Amino acid sequence: MNWREYVRNVTPYVPGEQPKIDNLIKLNTNENPYSPSPVVKEELIRLAEDYDCLRRYPKPDCDALRDALSEYMNIAPDKVFTGVGSDDVICTIFSTFFHSKLPVLFADITYSFYEVWAEYVGFPKELIPVKDDLSIDINDYRKENGGIVIANPNAPTGLMLPLSKIEEILKFNRDSIVIVDEAYIDFGGESAVKLIDKYDNLIVIQTYSKSRNLAGLRIGMAFASAELISKIKAVKFSVNSYTMNEPSLRIASAVLKDEKHFRECCDKVMKTREWSCEEFKKLGFVFPESSSNFVFVTHPKVNANDIYKALREKGILVRHFSKPERIDNYLRISIGTDDEMKALFEALREIIPQ
Ligand SMILES: *Cc1c(COP(=O)(O)O)cnc(C)c1O
Repeated sequence: MNWREYVRNVTPYVPGEQPKIDNLIKLNTNENPYSPSPVVKEELIRLAEDYDCLRRYPKPDCDALRDALSEYMNIAPDKVFTGVGSDDVICTIFSTFFHSKLPVLFADITYSFYEVWAEYVGFPKELIPVKDDLSIDINDYRKENGGIVIANPNAPTGLMLPLSKIEEILKFNRDSIVIVDEAYIDFGGESAVKLIDKYDNLIVIQTYSKSRNLAGLRIGMAFASAELISKIKAVKFSVNSYTMNEPSLRIASAVLKDEKHFRECCDKVMKTREWSCEEFKKLGFVFPESSSNFVFVTHPKVNANDIYKALREKGILVRHFSKPERIDNYLRISIGTDDEMKALFEALREIIPQ
């Protein structure tokens, strides 16, 4: 026997690069440009004093964080699940629910990790083409399916479906699992969390990585009916009881107390986004309306990959997706600080012929 005949071959997701270049302006992975709440620092100091706590396993149910989120969101604790970033949460949910022979539906232009997990978990998928304006038409989700995944706002387009449209998808799919990935919901959207009591087939996913300035902590969460959460937990406890580490659990719980910092950072990002959109327009860029912390731009005269390369030479990193072909002339540009965006537009004025 040769192991090569039995190895599992998968095509992995390729995250945006994290290069070590001095003074790099990094607008390629949708991280928040602002520091996390000062509560994080206080909690780290407290943790240093109490470092003996690391001798013990953390609570497998992540009790403290689950209860903190339950109180913060005003949702019963048995409707809350947490994991190591929403990537971990989504993958666990996919492997919990997607085992039918019917295809799971998601958009052709969306978070490309969904396709990677489809291959990894091993379920059939059907990519539903977004419209020419990159929007999702909810009528395309009225067909037999093994589940539905919607990123709202969608990535990398930034387009948002209003809650009423999400509810229509739920109404037409009472017997399927409907997952709404709300990684960017805090930048102007209305969360579907308020629908979990009404629709026991809905799972809403959120993360600390974008709007809570804590991508490095790796915290993601899901909100759903107690029945769904118990199924997800059974799968999680079949793989690894202790996925989340004690420092992350403590910091993630504590930071929920600083609502002011959270709101201020989101407001600043949204304000800079509106200003940036005006600047993009002045330079001739075209883009769908963004409800997230990035803008998905294309230029009718200059090729996106050429802009990407020219910006990189000037020490500014944005995201270019060479696949799918439909979007290979677009750039996804994260909203940075005002100064970072000013530097971006200065560079773009040199790159784009006026
Ligand atoms: C960033 C992102 C995630 C994953 O975030 P985590 O850092 O793993 O929490 C999930 N879905 C979408 C659409 C994202 O953009």
